[in-house]
Amino acid sequence: MDLSLFFAGTAGSVPSARRGLPALLVRRGGERILFDCGEGTQRQLVKSVGLTDLTDIFLTHLHADHWLGLPGMLKSFELRDREKPLTVHGPPGTSALLERMRPVYGRPRYGLTIRDLEPGEAIRRDDLEIVPISVRHRATAFGYALIEDERPGRFDVELATRLGVTPGPDFGRLQRGETVNGVTPEQVVGEARRGRKVVITGDTAPTDAVVVAAHRADVLVHEATFAHEDADRAAVTGHSTARQAAQVAVDAEVTMLALTHLSSRYAGHEIRDEARAVFAATEVPRDFDTIDIPLPERGAPELVRWDPPRRQAPTRPPAPLESPA
Ligand SMILES: [Zn+2]
Ligand SMILES: [Zn+2]
Repeated sequence: MDLSLFFAGTAGSVPSARRGLPALLVRRGGERILFDCGEGTQRQLVKSVGLTDLTDIFLTHLHADHWLGLPGMLKSFELRDREKPLTVHGPPGTSALLERMRPVYGRPRYGLTIRDLEPGEAIRRDDLEIVPISVRHRATAFGYALIEDERPGRFDVELATRLGVTPGPDFGRLQRGETVNGVTPEQVVGEARRGRKVVITGDTAPTDAVVVAAHRADVLVHEATFAHEDADRAAVTGHSTARQAAQVAVDAEVTMLALTHLSSRYAGHEIRDEARAVFAATEVPRDFDTIDIPLPERGAPELVRWDPPRRQAPTRPPAPLESPA
């Protein structure tokens, strides 16, 4: 199953010309899950992959740069006659806050559910679990760990046939753990294969909670609001520097680190270079970049730069011949 992260907004606090406010779209099979919804997220999505029918939206915390785009988006879904139900999840206080925004989006006909989560309260979507983690910020704030279930081991068809099992229902019985004609599942089914893990921190100072949750994650999306020269400011505001985020990636032994929530004072390369000195497999996605995360046995995660769809050259009537001067 495909799994990718689409960076709809990579700025922190205030948008810049190049970076929109926080929003990260997780695409997994047919599922579309949005993490945070800063002001302008609708437009960011419409300009890139389209405003798809999200199934769930998770807010990391209630600072305005992470949710102000939500009331408008909820209203747009209604105007577009959306039918699919939608659940918005967030830390305690989310439902009270969005209730105060009711005049903006009314009572949408699609089923809208708003849920306050407790730390550790896992949400299950098929074979994926989404678990809120308490992080360290000036407000109650969550990161989220996305954890796929283990997949059953590979079934060795050739060996099973050689051992005298008839292809058909007996194969299924073996894969479900039954012994068939003296052939045991251990003989023909390999070890369970691990699923993928992604951790999204939201806003946070460096914290052990993330190190633990992100242990051996395929991708850690960590905030890096500041470069290390501004470490004091990061500490006061409950944010991380690029160097600190990279140290978390080292300690958690993740495969790839993606830094986001950049202060508008940085272009991106300073943040990337600082982090790479500590953790080489660091990327700093720009708006609309994607990270593809293949199954572990098929390779490592990869950053794919946004390639804007080519515009049709405008058709104009032929230019009049210049009159000689
Ligand atoms: Zn923020
Ligand atoms: Zn914040």
